[in-house]
Amino acid sequence: MKQIHNFINGEFVATAKAFDKFSPLDNSLLAKVHEAGRNEVDAAVAAAQAALKGPWGRMTVAERVDLLNAVADGINRRFDDFLAAECADTGKPRSLASHIDIPRGAANFKIFADVIKSVPTEFFEMATPDGRGALNYALRRPVGVVGVICPWNLPLLLMTWKVGPALACGNTVVVKPSEETPQTATLLGEVMNEVGMPKGVYNVVHGFGPGSAGEFVTTHPKVNAITFTGETRTGAAIMKAAAEGARPVSLEMGGKNPAIVFADCDFDAAIEGTMRSVFANCGQVCLGTERVYVERPIFDRFVAALKQGAEGLKLGRPEDPATGLGPLISQEHKNKVLSYFDKAKALGATVVTGGGVPQMAGELAGGAWVQPTIWTGLDDHSPIAREEIFGPCTLIQPFDSEEEVVRRANDTDYGLACSVWTRDLARAHRVAGQIEAGLVWVNSWFLRDLRTPFGGAKQSGIGREGGVHSLEFYTELKNICIKL
Ligand code: NAD
Repeated sequence: MKQIHNFINGEFVATAKAFDKFSPLDNSLLAKVHEAGRNEVDAAVAAAQAALKGPWGRMTVAERVDLLNAVADGINRRFDDFLAAECADTGKPRSLASHIDIPRGAANFKIFADVIKSVPTEFFEMATPDGRGALNYALRRPVGVVGVICPWNLPLLLMTWKVGPALACGNTVVVKPSEETPQTATLLGEVMNEVGMPKGVYNVVHGFGPGSAGEFVTTHPKVNAITFTGETRTGAAIMKAAAEGARPVSLEMGGKNPAIVFADCDFDAAIEGTMRSVFANCGQVCLGTERVYVERPIFDRFVAALKQGAEGLKLGRPEDPATGLGPLISQEHKNKVLSYFDKAKALGATVVTGGGVPQMAGELAGGAWVQPTIWTGLDDHSPIAREEIFGPCTLIQPFDSEEEVVRRANDTDYGLACSVWTRDLARAHRVAGQIEAGLVWVNSWFLRDLRTPFGGAKQSGIGREGGVHSLEFYTELKNICIKL
């Protein structure tokens, strides 16, 4: 049986207590994951603190940049290992992980190596009464040990999205991957050793949230800052934990993202983009679309085309190139998504397609599969329109005016992302400006330049990361004033 270890101070660490990781494909036992207790978390934090005072802490930016680029190259060298591990943990199609998850995992080190290399220093000359003047300049110092708490939907991508900038800024990290996706974080430990990353800079502790490694990391008094991606409820608990010791948090949390499709859109592009935004990664993307508002003249045609697309998706194994949809992450998540399928029916939704469990052949019958699902006929007050489901499903509703659709799109506790589909760029600009979200796409979805600010409005997040914006969280600015 495969064993997944913690990675502490450059060593792979077993513990007496291991939990089971099951395959989402068929519910077979995939691995035993060694759960970190308080002792292991203490050891990881101590190693991270010590590394700040060791060679890592004394490195020049240029030396750190070289190491980060070496990590990116190391991921690419072991591309197939990362791909196999990510697909095993999540069940996602290889075609998806090989284009998104693993390349972005490597890119997250390269981009922040570039950012840190080119970030300017603030400098001011000031006058003094004696006429000799003074020089002010600002240094960016690392915040210290950063706790990184990760979700399961894009495991390597979202972890390195935090670890890349944290290390670029000279911090050290203690990463707590999701209990559902432990493998790639530990594999990255191998790469860190291969490229000569000093011990203690990158640490991984496995386990759960409350009463386990997640809580032990976020409540640890020597963890100087916490960066989190996951559910809004969990983010709130982490913020409370961070209040002890007044530690900064960066929170990337849930969404209930709308797509707004105007009648003048490029219809095929809107269907193609909405297909991806609803069904990619089996709907388990924080930026995914769970509400589609379609202008009435094209409503029926849009619903029919999306139905046709959904029914054309092949559910299957990751290695099958024809696979368009994998399983959900776990039986537990499947039960949650199915509870919304039941709720939609009970509320009187029109089930355009799906709404149940597909017939899967052989051992796949035991996996966490659900059908790609589309509903119409529910209003903005239904839980289907308001609560994050995080599955391959969406509610489509008609609208009649721009003012109406902006109001309805904004009628949510969340504010992560929105897609607007129209050929009228003046309208696109107007609507994008009014949408209460951190990110608005016009005639696209999931198109990201990693230098741009990323984060959620309202209950979708606190703070912005990406490019130089990440530096605001991962560094402290120190002003030095020299009297001449
Ligand atoms: P989750 O909140 O259940 O878990 C995330 C991580 O937090 C896991 O590692 C978990 O073990 C840990 N955790 C749970 N309780 C904790 C506690 N009390 N203290 C410390 N750690 C704790 O989220 P998930 O189910 O893994 O991920 C799906 C969610 O993530 C969705 O809501 C999705 O929208 C969100 N998400 C947001 C973004 C974004 O960028 N905004 C990106 C991806 C996912």
